[in-house]
Amino acid sequence: MIKSLKAQAHTLSETDAQLDLLNGPLFYDSGNSSFTAHLKENNQFPLKPTNLEIFQINLGYMCNQTCAHCHVDAGPDRKEIMTRDNMQICVDLVRKHNFKTIDLTGGAPEMNPDFRWFVTELKKAGAQEIIVRCNLTIIVANKKYNDLPEFFKEHDVRVVSSLPYYKSEKTDKQRGNGVFDKSIKALKMLNAVGYGKPGTGLILDLVYNPAGAFLPGNQMELESDFKKELSKSWDIEFNSLLAITNLPISRFLDYLVKSENFVDYMVKLVNAFNPSAIDGLMCRNTISIDWDGHMFDCDFNQMLDIKIPAANGSHISTFDIDKLSKREISVNQHCFGCTAGAGSSCQGTTA
Ligand code: SF4
Ligand code: SF4
Repeated sequence: MIKSLKAQAHTLSETDAQLDLLNGPLFYDSGNSSFTAHLKENNQFPLKPTNLEIFQINLGYMCNQTCAHCHVDAGPDRKEIMTRDNMQICVDLVRKHNFKTIDLTGGAPEMNPDFRWFVTELKKAGAQEIIVRCNLTIIVANKKYNDLPEFFKEHDVRVVSSLPYYKSEKTDKQRGNGVFDKSIKALKMLNAVGYGKPGTGLILDLVYNPAGAFLPGNQMELESDFKKELSKSWDIEFNSLLAITNLPISRFLDYLVKSENFVDYMVKLVNAFNPSAIDGLMCRNTISIDWDGHMFDCDFNQMLDIKIPAANGSHISTFDIDKLSKREISVNQHCFGCTAGAGSSCQGTTA
């Protein structure tokens, strides 16, 4: 089995190949191991949205890093980038529908040349909370980004940043040589303007995801360890730690196959299915928009190119909140990553 999986590994950048692998005759023979079957057992099929609160917008796949487990397959060579025209449509939708939270992601969203214009316009349109998924190293990558902490502060942005571990070895292994030291430098710059400091209201959250084929540990315990170690070694403060499960897609799926961990990891996810995580699935209150303005149930479906069906309006130019609110969410085997253990979403655990 592993031999045939390895043979497929070279094609895994293709979304069809990923879906074939996730749905292939590996161990789902009975049908009882499908995510759909698990939803049915819990009277949650078809999966429906609750209320649309979060507008998650991907500003492009370009990034200054090439992390080993990146589910976006982002990097310096990616050219896909959101245009100002599509940003303007997003701004108009935020103004019209009063979306509570705007979650800006990438790649490195700050590398989009219209990033600052977009944040400013979203604020003017009434966005209550703007999250920027900042990879930290972008702040020190080039002097044109050095003032990002001040820009974030000025626009009351909530900064959410990945830091796989509080020590350099594990962080650099997952995110690239030298990333830990640069991340520490950037965190100090964010702390210096008040981010993560009590009483400032400037929120700095960190994201932890496991370095291998295992589920994250307890989010509260991890947060406590990170706070203690980062404070002791680097005098760094932050608000909350969000523990996220690696979903079996893109580069992480590639890693699972090449390291011969794919089957074991999927069995782990299926066995750890937690029905109480269904209520908090992020696809139930979020719409994910790609750089080209197409809409998806979540960031992961975006990466697998599972679009919201055209009948419900698959592009922001045909945005219809009534149809979107009544749609059926497209699920697949990768969804087990969101319901395993304490549940997982872009906001951390869900159960
Ligand atoms: S920083 Fe984020 S978007 Fe960039 S390669 Fe790493 S995981 Fe992917
Ligand atoms: S992968 Fe997306 S669609 Fe599937 S459960 Fe998670 S958030 Fe929902």
